[in-house]
Amino acid sequence: MSPIELNKRQDAILQIVKENGPITGEQIAERLGLTRATLRPDLAILTMAGFLDARPRVGYFYAGKKSAVSITESMMNLKVKDFQAVPVVVSENMTVYDAICHMFLEDVGTLFVVDKNAYLQGVLSRKDLLRSSIGTQDLNKIPVHIIMTRMPNIAYCLKTDSLILAAKKLIDRQIDSMPVVNETEHGLEIVGRLTKTNITRAFISLADTHDL
Ligand code: ADP
Repeated sequence: MSPIELNKRQDAILQIVKENGPITGEQIAERLGLTRATLRPDLAILTMAGFLDARPRVGYFYAGKKSAVSITESMMNLKVKDFQAVPVVVSENMTVYDAICHMFLEDVGTLFVVDKNAYLQGVLSRKDLLRSSIGTQDLNKIPVHIIMTRMPNIAYCLKTDSLILAAKKLIDRQIDSMPVVNETEHGLEIVGRLTKTNITRAFISLADTHDL
């Protein structure tokens, strides 16, 4: 069991909550001159490590120091929603040529493909696009739905899923990213994107608590 040590920002958050709690994440961010999004991993770590408690619509309050939380236990408490990225979606009728441009412009490695109702239909990776560019086909004439990996074979996760289990899914399926979705009776609504980069960032944030 390695006890959790806090970095300077986490210490500052803890101090603010001790003095002002209950206090919302937004208010803590304001006091530190940071955005709520920047603080999200720190708040997640402080909460899972037992330093803070969070109540919906009330905010964070100090829960007392329980420092003997193991790294394993900490990792099991990390959630997809605290580390996910913004999804980049394209229409199933977009041409392969435009999808390639879009991937460069948006600077992502995977595009999610949606139907006209914005429900998830497919995934386009860099290699999917590269593969279709070998040969003599006119990329302006091929819609992406011809070459994408399609439902129901898409691996996805939910905001509330454990990050470690989502990471395992990426490794087991040998893919770089997954859509984060809301399951509705009509289809899957895309609310985020979880990539290997996000997992790496989570890994660093755990090390961060040891002030590396
Ligand atoms: P790349 O092909 O650029 O190395 P990936 O490893 O992510 O990127 O993709 C490998 C293959 O798996 C591609 O054909 C892609 O369409 C497919 N793929 C990518 N993400 C998913 C996913 N979440 N669910 C199902 N298939 C996926």
